[in-house]
Amino acid sequence: MSAPPCAAAAAHGDPPMTGPRVDGVETAVFTVPTDAPEGDATLAWESTTLVLARVRSAGATGIGYTYGAPATALVIDQQLSAVVVGRPVWDVPAANEAMNRAVRNTGRPGLVAGALSALDIALWDLKARLLGLPLVALLGACRAGVPVYGSGGFTTYDAERQDRQLREWVAGQGIPRAKIKIGESWGTAPDRDLHRVARARRSVGDAAELYVDANGGYTRKQAIRLARHLDDHGVTWFEEPVSSDDLTGLAQISAATAPDVAAGEYGYTLSYFGHMLQAGAVDCLQADATRCGGITVWLRAAALAEAAGVQISGHCAPHLHAHPAAAVPNLRHLEWFHDHVRIENLLFDGVLDPGGGSVHPGTSGEAGHGLTLREDRAEAYRTG
Ligand SMILES: [Mg+2]
Repeated sequence: MSAPPCAAAAAHGDPPMTGPRVDGVETAVFTVPTDAPEGDATLAWESTTLVLARVRSAGATGIGYTYGAPATALVIDQQLSAVVVGRPVWDVPAANEAMNRAVRNTGRPGLVAGALSALDIALWDLKARLLGLPLVALLGACRAGVPVYGSGGFTTYDAERQDRQLREWVAGQGIPRAKIKIGESWGTAPDRDLHRVARARRSVGDAAELYVDANGGYTRKQAIRLARHLDDHGVTWFEEPVSSDDLTGLAQISAATAPDVAAGEYGYTLSYFGHMLQAGAVDCLQADATRCGGITVWLRAAALAEAAGVQISGHCAPHLHAHPAAAVPNLRHLEWFHDHVRIENLLFDGVLDPGGGSVHPGTSGEAGHGLTLREDRAEAYRTG
C-alpha cells in the first residue's frame, strides 16, 4: 500500500504547513487554428493547443499553461491535482518537488513535464496575487526591460508573407531582432533556405539582428558549410543546426562557425541543461518554463547557465517568461513567437507591448503575471 503523495513528500522533509492552502485545481484545453499553414525543418501544423491550469486559494486564482497535447490536462487532473491540493501556497518549490516525485513511474519528460510546469507557473501566479505583488517583484527584479525578438518566418510562408511579417516586427514595432525557420524538409532545400535568408536580411535592414532556427534539420558538416553563408548575411544566431540530442555535433558546430549556436527548448529536467552546458554545446542556452518544470526550474537553469558563463533565452510562451526573465542577470532575450503571441493576445487580457524591442513586466502594477482569461472569447476555442 502506498502512502498518499503529501505524506510521501513529508517523509523527505517538507516545510511546515503554514499560510493559505491550495483549495482546488482545474484544467481547460483550447485549440486555436493558425492564421496560415505553419512549418519548420522537421514539423508542420495547422493548429496549436494551449492547456490551462488554474489553482485556487482564499478566493484568488492563479493561472499557468503549456502548449502541447490535450492529454496534458489528464496528467494534471489524474496525477498532479491531488499532490497540490491542500499544500501551502507559499512553498512553491516544495510543491514542485512533490510533483516531481509523484511522476517517477509515469516518466517526467514530455507532456508530464508540461503538466507539472503549468501547475508550477499557476502556483507562482497565485502566490503573487495573494500577496498583491507583480510576479517579478515577488521573484526579485534584476532588470526593468526584457528584450524580445520576433520569431516566425515559417518555411511554409511565401516571400510576400515572410517580408510582411519581418517588416512588421522591425519597422512596425521597433523590435531590432528577428528569426526565420530554415532547414526546410529535413535540410533537403538548402538553396531555398539561403535565398530566404538573403530576402530576410533585405526585409529587416542592415541594423537589425537576424537569426535562424533549423529545428535539427541539418547534418553536422552540412550545418558548418551553410553557416559560412549565413555569416555572409550577418546571421548571428543558429538555433538547433542539428538535433539538440547531438551534443557533440552542436559543440563541433559552435567551435567551427561564427553565429552563436543555441538549443535547449526540449529540456524537461534541470540535468538536461547541465549536460548541455557541460558539453559546451551552446553559446546561449534556451529553456522553456512551460516544459522544463515551470518558473522554479527555469530560474535554476538560468543559474546553471550563468555559472557556465552562458546567457539564457526564454523559448516561446512569451507572457509566462517575461517576469522570471526580468529576475535573472544573464538574460539575452525572449522569443516573441508569432503563433503563441497571437494565441495569448486572443485568449488573455493583460498582455505586454513589445514596442521598441522590450517588454516591461510589472510596471502597470498588476498582481501575478497579470494575465486573465477572456472567458467570452476563449469558449469558442475550448476543446477540453
Ligand atoms: Mg526553436
